[in-house]
Amino acid sequence: MLSPIDEIKNRLDIVEVIGSYLKLKKAGANWRALCPFHSEKTPSFFVSPARQIWHCFGCQKGGSIFNFIMEMEGVEFGDALRILAQKTGVQLKRQPPELRTERQRLYEICELATQFFEKQIESKTGEAVKEYLLGRGINKESLKKWRIGYSPDTWGGLSDFLISKGYKKEEVEKAGLVIKSETGDNFYDRFRGRIIFPIFDLNSQVVGFSGRIFKSEDTAKYVNTPSTLLYDKSRILYGLDKAKVEIRKKDFCILVEGNTDVIMAHQADSGNAVATSGTALTTSQLKILKRYSDNLFIAFDMDIAGETATKRGIDLAQIQGFNLKVVRLPSGKDPAEIISKNKKEWERSLKAAKSILDFYFKTAFSNQDVKTAEGKKEISKILLPVIRRIPNKIVQAHWIQELAKKLEVKEESVEEELKKVKPETFDLAVELSQPQAPLPKTRREMLEERLITLILKSPQNLNLIEKNRLANFSPQVQEILIKLGKKQTPDSEFFNYLSLKAEVENEEEKEIVPEIKYCLEELQSLEIKNKLNQISKEIKEAEEEKDLKKIEKLTQEFNQLAKEIK
Ligand SMILES: [Zn+2]
Repeated sequence: MLSPIDEIKNRLDIVEVIGSYLKLKKAGANWRALCPFHSEKTPSFFVSPARQIWHCFGCQKGGSIFNFIMEMEGVEFGDALRILAQKTGVQLKRQPPELRTERQRLYEICELATQFFEKQIESKTGEAVKEYLLGRGINKESLKKWRIGYSPDTWGGLSDFLISKGYKKEEVEKAGLVIKSETGDNFYDRFRGRIIFPIFDLNSQVVGFSGRIFKSEDTAKYVNTPSTLLYDKSRILYGLDKAKVEIRKKDFCILVEGNTDVIMAHQADSGNAVATSGTALTTSQLKILKRYSDNLFIAFDMDIAGETATKRGIDLAQIQGFNLKVVRLPSGKDPAEIISKNKKEWERSLKAAKSILDFYFKTAFSNQDVKTAEGKKEISKILLPVIRRIPNKIVQAHWIQELAKKLEVKEESVEEELKKVKPETFDLAVELSQPQAPLPKTRREMLEERLITLILKSPQNLNLIEKNRLANFSPQVQEILIKLGKKQTPDSEFFNYLSLKAEVENEEEKEIVPEIKYCLEELQSLEIKNKLNQISKEIKEAEEEKDLKKIEKLTQEFNQLAKEIK
């Protein structure tokens, strides 16, 4: 019987799995992409379908499909295994509770809570909720697909249920589902009498909830799960798990404001819609979106002159080089409302989406009197920062021209003022917190790797390596050389990595033999230098012991060896 790990490896194609996270492009026998783990302009991240491995030749991260999920999702091996098992339908043995990670238990709690809420909507009390949602245009399939539920208006309905399933109150609190009372000795349900929208991570596992009021009017319209081990709202976009494939296919993403907007958009063939769930776009969210497309349609109201959080998020997207378009909706209406009344109007609005610069220009000019000096100043105050943010200089020049023309001033004046606009530094800390790079390789490791990749490119040159020198190589390289000598294919992760490297690196035919010889010579002199160091140490020891005979013998050895260095 195969182990679950091997079974998962058998069933999943690494290209497909990694391709669901990154934009992969074919490169010979392999696929390449911009590395998600370090920032780069030219792709050095490779995926090998033949070997089912990935490697980044920029930051040197690499490995199997499991390592990729661990790095990408920031989880432990066990969680990566579960994520992939879920994708393949491989059954993992249920582990005893004490062995399950905290993370895993929180996932289970969220899943059970979702089932609990789903059941409520089917009950007598849930009937009115269901009717309300159907009345808003959300159809029955969507209720199922988005797992919409209802939390009963009680203080302990959910927590009693979860505790009866064997979870501790503290765990339920960590999942964000209960609140500790002020006295600290009691817990009560966070979501009471609310319509529940589960929030999914990229793998469609429930990590949090958004609860919308139902009936009672005197409390907050929305209550959301606070930050938990699973739920970090700055990294989650509502609906992305269901939209990611469609975003890649259509090569654009529609950004809406609310959960119901996403659900209705998906119902109306806009399966590429996601929502920020009421918060402003963050750098992390934008980075995740960038994996799927560079094109972003904004379908919510935006106050262009205001210093709102929403606008800052859009500015951030512009700085990150997204192509932004604005979908104009009839004033005061949100996508959900428009779609439920007339799907065609939504489609028309999408088709008529304007570039963000057009949108800014139109709005700025329509709100000010361009004939007055004061009006010109106000307009430029809005537009200059926007123009400043355009990463492409040619595009930027175009809009400088446009602004000068419309303001009826000289281009130089616009350029002069543009220089005064301070460059923005958003979330720099996030950019700087790069994941830790692996230890740098030693010179010997680099030479050995280079040697093997050259041999793999030209197996006929294996005989350049003399048999009696084998012992000087590191064990893993020895193993590869021995197998290659017997015309066998080595079976190690290290060998797979080197094979990929050999395929990816370009080498001029005539350079190969001289390069192999160079590596061999360098390795040999490294070896000799190491030995010389060793002998010097021994000489020192012998001197301390005043062992004249030994000193003489070692010195002779030293001189003999030193001659061999080329
Ligand atoms: Zn990298």
